[in-house]
Amino acid sequence: MRTLANFIDGAMAAPRAGQYLDKTDPATGSVFARVPDSDSGDVALAVAAAERAFDSWSHTLAAERSRLLIAIADRIEARLGEFALAESIDTGKTLALATTLDIPRASANFRFFATAVLHASSETHTTDYAALNYTLRRPRGVAGLISPWNLPLYLLSWKIAPAIATGNTAVAKPSELTPSTAFLLGDVCREVGLPPGVLNLVHGPGAKAGAALVEHPAVRTISFTGGTVTGAAIAKTAAPAFKKITLELGGKNPTIIFGDADLDTHLPAIVRSAFANQGEICLCGSRILVEESIYPVFLERFVAAVKALKVGDPLVAGTDVGALVSEGHQQKVSRYIALAREEGGTIVCGGGPPASLPARCAHGYFLEPTVVTGLPMGCRTNQEEIFGPVVTVTPFRDEAQAVDLANHSNYGLAASIWTRDLGRAHRMAEAVQCGIIWINCWLLRDLRVPFGGMRQSGVGREGGDEALRFFTEPKSVCVKLG
Ligand code: NAD
Repeated sequence: MRTLANFIDGAMAAPRAGQYLDKTDPATGSVFARVPDSDSGDVALAVAAAERAFDSWSHTLAAERSRLLIAIADRIEARLGEFALAESIDTGKTLALATTLDIPRASANFRFFATAVLHASSETHTTDYAALNYTLRRPRGVAGLISPWNLPLYLLSWKIAPAIATGNTAVAKPSELTPSTAFLLGDVCREVGLPPGVLNLVHGPGAKAGAALVEHPAVRTISFTGGTVTGAAIAKTAAPAFKKITLELGGKNPTIIFGDADLDTHLPAIVRSAFANQGEICLCGSRILVEESIYPVFLERFVAAVKALKVGDPLVAGTDVGALVSEGHQQKVSRYIALAREEGGTIVCGGGPPASLPARCAHGYFLEPTVVTGLPMGCRTNQEEIFGPVVTVTPFRDEAQAVDLANHSNYGLAASIWTRDLGRAHRMAEAVQCGIIWINCWLLRDLRVPFGGMRQSGVGREGGDEALRFFTEPKSVCVKLG
């Protein structure tokens, strides 16, 4: 049994109270590690270390901060196999996905912000001939960074990299369900010589360690990714203390397929957009809307492709769909499949655990990719985030109805639109109320564009300049000319 530790002030640290949580491998159902069950005392130590490190780090030259971030990226890449295995065993996702997507994108995040910070500019304005105004941007202090379990290292690095690149110090709290890659990241920080206290990692449950981080008076900046209910609780704590927050929350994303879509080319991407990472990506399309002229043909081809997905051992090459992250989550997703039936939906494929699994995975938390038809857009199955391998398919008449159905949601994170008609693609991009729109693609990311959702999917944006701005405090300086 492996015992994980917090990373505080440049060193591994056991939780002060000596309490640990069991960490289960979702593919086997067996406990393989103990995770610190940290409390407010551990958070206080981490924040104190970050406060001590701030003055020196915020005055460290950008080139040196950049060098250290690139060194972190290099070491993650050098230890790719170790990171990917840890990620797969933590989450249940396939080792192939962790190796090709999650871990490379995590190191890319460090690389991106390491160089972005070297090119950051601030604004200058002249007021007639009277004055010159410029904006000073300074790091804000200790940032609290809280992330979920579905893309653990990727989402954590997406926060850590811009926070420390801009000269802040940070206390990060990864999900208690997926601590292993963050634990390895602490080791990497030690390897590359990141000054103690610049990045601190505290493990533990959200209601204890996470809440303590949000409440800590010295943490003035909070970047959170996770569920909408948790985001609301964080906003409630942060607002009266006037903390600066960004919230990246849940989604119920539409995948909109018009009659002229190039299915021969794009069907694999549409299937991936529904079931990649067992549907446990906030950006997965879970409401598939299809123009009625091609509905029967699409459904037949889509279901055939979904049935061909191989559910099984995440560590075996060729597996497409691994295990869900936990027993509790498997039960939650199963309850939604039962609800879809109660609401009158037809389960066209999937609907439960696979009939056979390798012996090693007999007690794992697997579900077959599930396709449901025949549900109205207002029902709970179509309105609530399931966050698993379950999608609904609904026909639409024309462009106007496609927009209505797509926007019939309290969420507004991402949408994908599949059509050969360029004019329609632009009209739809304008009309669909989501923060991220993909046209004839999905999950293609340029790290410079703003990332985030509208409405119940969050406030604020991450990525590129948005992140550099979020983690800095602007100060306007006005100099009288003449
Ligand atoms: P969650 O909200 O339960 O937990 C997220 C993180 O918050 C965890 O680290 C958790 O320990 C912590 N936390 C929980 N309660 C807290 C509290 N009261 N105070 C402070 N921290 C607390 O979410 P989850 O189940 O880990 O992740 C799934 C959710 O994340 C889904 O809703 C998904 O859509 C969302 N998500 C959103 C994005 C995005 O970019 N919009 C990306 C990935 C996941």
